[in-house]
Amino acid sequence: MKLEKYSMGVGDRFGRQGRAQLQAMQVMRAAGVPVVPVWNKSFREHSIIHTQPMDVRRAADAAVAAEKWTGGYHVDADHISLKNVDGFVAASDFFTLDVADHIGVAAPEADVAAFVARHGDLVGSHMIAGMDRPLEVTAASLAASARKYLHAVREAGRLYRHIAERKGAGNFITEVSMDETNLPQTPPEMLVILAAIADEKIPAQTIAPKFTGRFNKGVDYVGDVAVFAGEFAADVCVIRHAIKRFGLPENLKLSVHSGSDKFSLYAPIAEAIRRLDAGVHLKTAGTTWLEEMIGLAEAGGEGLAVARDVYRLAFGRFDELCGPYATVIDVQVARLPTVETVLQWDGPRFARALRHVPSCPDFNPDFRQFIHVGYKVAAEMGPRYLSALAAHEAVVARNVRDNILERHLKPLFA
Ligand SMILES: [Zn+2]
Repeated sequence: MKLEKYSMGVGDRFGRQGRAQLQAMQVMRAAGVPVVPVWNKSFREHSIIHTQPMDVRRAADAAVAAEKWTGGYHVDADHISLKNVDGFVAASDFFTLDVADHIGVAAPEADVAAFVARHGDLVGSHMIAGMDRPLEVTAASLAASARKYLHAVREAGRLYRHIAERKGAGNFITEVSMDETNLPQTPPEMLVILAAIADEKIPAQTIAPKFTGRFNKGVDYVGDVAVFAGEFAADVCVIRHAIKRFGLPENLKLSVHSGSDKFSLYAPIAEAIRRLDAGVHLKTAGTTWLEEMIGLAEAGGEGLAVARDVYRLAFGRFDELCGPYATVIDVQVARLPTVETVLQWDGPRFARALRHVPSCPDFNPDFRQFIHVGYKVAAEMGPRYLSALAAHEAVVARNVRDNILERHLKPLFA
């Protein structure tokens, strides 16, 4: 099973927006730019919403049938580990092996030495096609990278083989993710990581590194865009080099996690993938839930009442809701509107505060990030929330579709 050149992770927390998401892909396809949807949902999201992996598969299949989508599509067991992978095996054909927690755990020193000996030819100055400077690896940096990443890649190998034994090698797509950590992986480290992935015989088709800068949920990139652009392009070149050198899958590409709403990065990503003729996977999840809230607010009536209530109920549980997302959001209570204020907003005002239009004076990035983590409250509302989505399906779907199409797919791929 082979992942296509351009793909987008389209998380859909409540499983109601598959058709709207596909409609955005249909527009791209009609314009000659096929982008494949991958419905991703993590164990954490399933636990909070009380859904099962098979619910994602059913929603994906139903959306594909209803929209008569004839392109490829996949269901991603997002950020799984050995602890929770088994529940995903039947439903998923894409597995994101999350080994970030294992970075920095030292492998036995004899194994590090064996790795360094086996890959001694990596020491030196590598002139890699597409890069304007040689990539430098020293004996010391090779050993340091092995100490930092070898154990994590071996954990990915264990996880890959666990899935392959149950599902059959070749019947699923493998992604290796290392993004949920504080320190970025540099392009020379990427070369060493890919050597280790090849040693483990993991047929990775995507790899999600931690890039430089902050990838806060639902809002734009925080960091030096020029540094990101250099790192992204260098990683693309290193991957291409590693495919030939280590015999990795020829379609191996970068995956950008927390990739929604990173408007300032789409131009440099688009420039790099075009110049280097590379693919990319952009993983998003919560941006679609935020569009549901915008659509409900715009609908007015009970839709607006639900949107206001999500905020009111979430506000009193700030620490509980923000805690699990501490490293990927930046919300200050002092910059949030009061509950009294929000209860007085009409639908358009609520929508303007939430919709990701940075130039709009009413847009509030703290409000947006806080609502992003507030989906737990909507999940607890249960039938009330889902009935509001059903009652206002048209306006919600329009927001979901336009967000994916106009603010994501077109800037990246058109
Ligand atoms: Zn991730």
